[in-house]
Amino acid sequence: MNLPEYRNEPFGDFSSSERREAMQRALRSVGDQLGADYPVVIHGERFHTSATMVSRSPAEPSRAVGHVSKATPELAVRAIETAHAAFTHWRREPVEQRARLLLRAAAIMRRRKEELAAWMVYEVSKSWAEADADVAEAIDFCEYYARQALRLQGSGQPLTPWPGEVNSLHYIPLGAGVAIPPWNFPLAIATNLVVAPLVAGNTVVLKPASSAPVIAAKLFAILEEAGLPPGVVNYLPGSGSAVGDLLIDHPLTRFIGFTGSKEVGLRINERASVRQPGQLWIKRAVLEMGGKDGIVVDETADLDAAAAGIVAAAFGFQGQKCSACSRVIIVERVYDALLQRIVTLTQAIKLGNPVDPDRFMGAVVDQDAFEKIRSYVTIGHQEGRLVAGEEPLGQDLLDSGGYFIRPTIFADIAPDARLAQEEIFGPVLAVIKARDFDDALAIANNTEYGLTGALFSNDLGRIARAYEDFHVGNLYINRKCTGALVGVQPFGGFNMSGTDSKAGGPDYLTLFTQVKVISERL
Ligand code: NAP
Ligand code: MG
Repeated sequence: MNLPEYRNEPFGDFSSSERREAMQRALRSVGDQLGADYPVVIHGERFHTSATMVSRSPAEPSRAVGHVSKATPELAVRAIETAHAAFTHWRREPVEQRARLLLRAAAIMRRRKEELAAWMVYEVSKSWAEADADVAEAIDFCEYYARQALRLQGSGQPLTPWPGEVNSLHYIPLGAGVAIPPWNFPLAIATNLVVAPLVAGNTVVLKPASSAPVIAAKLFAILEEAGLPPGVVNYLPGSGSAVGDLLIDHPLTRFIGFTGSKEVGLRINERASVRQPGQLWIKRAVLEMGGKDGIVVDETADLDAAAAGIVAAAFGFQGQKCSACSRVIIVERVYDALLQRIVTLTQAIKLGNPVDPDRFMGAVVDQDAFEKIRSYVTIGHQEGRLVAGEEPLGQDLLDSGGYFIRPTIFADIAPDARLAQEEIFGPVLAVIKARDFDDALAIANNTEYGLTGALFSNDLGRIARAYEDFHVGNLYINRKCTGALVGVQPFGGFNMSGTDSKAGGPDYLTLFTQVKVISERL
């Protein structure tokens, strides 16, 4: 198969009136489609269950984005059994065919870019730019893994020749697995967790996040439209606490691809390690978890660039990214000057319903998130000095009932304070003062996580130190710590941030394969 070299999908240019109008049209059209029913789908068969969940628009919770059937335990078992049965034929499908499915899915997503973005504006309150980037990333995963599968499973790997024998090495798929994405990149991460195992020849049960099951249903429908055979992917919405254990524990489950919180990831890791009666294999668990990502700024840094990077990384998508900057660690000499710049930029942020293109920040995802974040704001008042976020919300936002929280900054936070250690997953930034660069780096490393981090500095020696000693999976120098691109910055973290799977990287597909070596005596 002859494919052009992989390139990242360009972001939508909303400064062009044509693209702006296309997005407005998509928002109107999707607005008219809100509130539909979404059934469980197993082997292509639709199951409308009696228990449903309502996906709500965070900026306007009275608006139902969709009514989604909740899987029963019986359906969960059926989904795994179906995926297991489908594996017997899907694994024999030539890799070119499987890659073509991903390329077709990418083409469909490209044609429906604004529409898919619009679904995420409504369902999780992404701004236009954030929603557009989520679609672009989903397209990238399809394009990238299609090529990686052809590389890995196409011609095989070279081995050392041995006289009288033909030796060959093959990356073969594992079996049927479960994909459990979070709600925060509800198209991109769901796509990653489904299409990577799929293109490598595995079959999948997709259990979407309960706060974003509708966009996951759109992904599933796109795969069907692209030619997905029945049973090869099954769409199984339902509460993680109700059907999660069952899916993880099932003896036919061969692997679990999970992205989400540390707590759930650790639970899955533990349960997946237990051999169940009738289970033939050791389950593979690919787990990407939380972060407490820090940006370090020293006295040699460009403070304007640092402030812009910090504010974008802290408050983009309301701080609800695993890579979001939630700690800024500033050396004493520039602490006040930089803090001032960060506060000024933060105060200019526009908050509101992101259906409006003007809004940089929307609402946080749901009532639980709202309450959890608010409780950290209360803690912040005890642990530090509030420097941004105190202004009351406007009446329009209060009337909407949306889960709006102003971008909030607490200065003078101690390195071991809760605000400096716990993942808040919202628009709350802790600012920490360090004596000097060495102290700042030590503070940055002083968390149980190790996902992303950044250093703003113009000192080459310190940059070299950060290369060696800043212990995170994705380190950025003189730029923000969010926005990793597929193929450009393979993504995944250390320590309690997960198994460091590096999604969007050249090794990712190997996680969903095992290697078979065949030696034939001639
Ligand atoms: P979450 O609460 O851990 O949920 C993630 C997924 O796990 C959801 O589909 C959830 O289903 C499911 N789940 C819940 N309990 C389960 C159980 N007992 N067994 C199996 N599955 C279960 O995380 P989230 O709130 O969706 O996402 C935010 C978290 O994801 C943050 O910690 C963030 O840092 C992390 N994240 C990490 C990365 C990364 O690449 N490292 C990327 C994005 C996000 P329900 O929705 O039905 O509960
Ligand atoms: Mg929702």
